[in-house]
Amino acid sequence: MRTFFVFVIALTATSLAAAQPQGTKAPAPVHYVRCGALVQPESGKVQKNVLIAIQGERITEVRENAGNPSGNVTDLSAYTCLPGLIDTHTHVLLQGDITAADYDEQLLKQSTAYRAILATRSVRRALEYGFTTIRDLETEGAGYADVDLKKAINNGIIPGPRMRVATRAMDVTGAYPLSGYSWEIDVPHGVQVVDGVEGGRKAVREQISFGADWIKVYSDRSYFVRPDGVLDDIPTFTLDELRAIVDEAHRQHHKVASHAMALNGVHNSVEAGVDSVANGIYITDSDLKTMAQRGIFYVPTIYVGEYVAQGRAAAGAKVWLDMLKIHEDTFRRALNAGVKIAFGTDVGGFDWAIDPAVEFRYMVKYGMTPAQAIRSATSSAAELLGMQNDVGSIAPGKYADIVAVKGDPLADVGVLEHVDFVMKGGEIYKSAGH
Ligand SMILES: [Zn+2]
Repeated sequence: MRTFFVFVIALTATSLAAAQPQGTKAPAPVHYVRCGALVQPESGKVQKNVLIAIQGERITEVRENAGNPSGNVTDLSAYTCLPGLIDTHTHVLLQGDITAADYDEQLLKQSTAYRAILATRSVRRALEYGFTTIRDLETEGAGYADVDLKKAINNGIIPGPRMRVATRAMDVTGAYPLSGYSWEIDVPHGVQVVDGVEGGRKAVREQISFGADWIKVYSDRSYFVRPDGVLDDIPTFTLDELRAIVDEAHRQHHKVASHAMALNGVHNSVEAGVDSVANGIYITDSDLKTMAQRGIFYVPTIYVGEYVAQGRAAAGAKVWLDMLKIHEDTFRRALNAGVKIAFGTDVGGFDWAIDPAVEFRYMVKYGMTPAQAIRSATSSAAELLGMQNDVGSIAPGKYADIVAVKGDPLADVGVLEHVDFVMKGGEIYKSAGH
């Protein structure tokens, strides 16, 4: 303790001495954003005529009914401002896969380099749609290209959101595409194929060493509706395997995202202690209760189901149409059970030309208030990502990640599909009125 104390004082004294005498480094100039209204997601309250002061990348002050300051002011008095939106389930390296053929084509005919070039467009679109932070949940066969995209964004090479990346994801032998090819041909897989407890631990260590922020697992496959209406599945990993993966990730202070659509996949994920369950078309009441108790997040990805259902049903898999109704019922039960819900869309599973903010309308259609839906994509999503000190609300100390829309998103959440202004870290990427 004592040694540490002395050390801190010495450091402070040094930095003061270094900073003051010459006065070479002037503090960053203050930039103001004036908002006609500002939505504070945590309280659901709307403040009127708000002045946000920004220095460098961060917000220094938020004042209501403030007069005009001197200096650089961005006037959004005709707009409603919100914190930058957060999508906790994206695939920037995927460009839509309604059918297996769409998916196979991307893995077989496109090089990782070409896919990364397409992904630079996906991340730019994400930012322009108003998503200033994303959790990208695996590259679908493009290796660690998500780590490179994140690096290029952080280094200012290309515009894009703040990224948390899951790299390659994991699934067991025989469970994940590409599949159905001759046994004589070696085809690529959309995941890292991982078997066994030791294999799981090793894969976690490997992915983290190459830059994974999150570990992603696929926990089930081969869905079918039972006569009693329950969506059943074949679980992929055994509970022991899942537990080992989760334990190894948590031991290294990383979180685990599980793709789990149905009965066994969700149950095993919850039992193994994952941090979020994505998709969750069917979840039992008892698993919802456990999720609420343990603070496991539900990331429902509603719209993508609607998007792929018709195409997949036409290709012979009618189960995708049945799943829409089951999903709505699960979402309503999760809301009632008090499960934490974070906004996530699976964009990339659908075309990046579609604004993922379309998900808000479905969340409201399935029973959320607009305020709850907005919270899921701001303060709740920030909590899931462990970024609540940096993003998710507009407050002093946080990054100046601000979006603005015409109209009132608390009355019509659909206005979030038309974001007119985007600022990330104090820099404007989309200007109002253009
Ligand atoms: Zn996904």
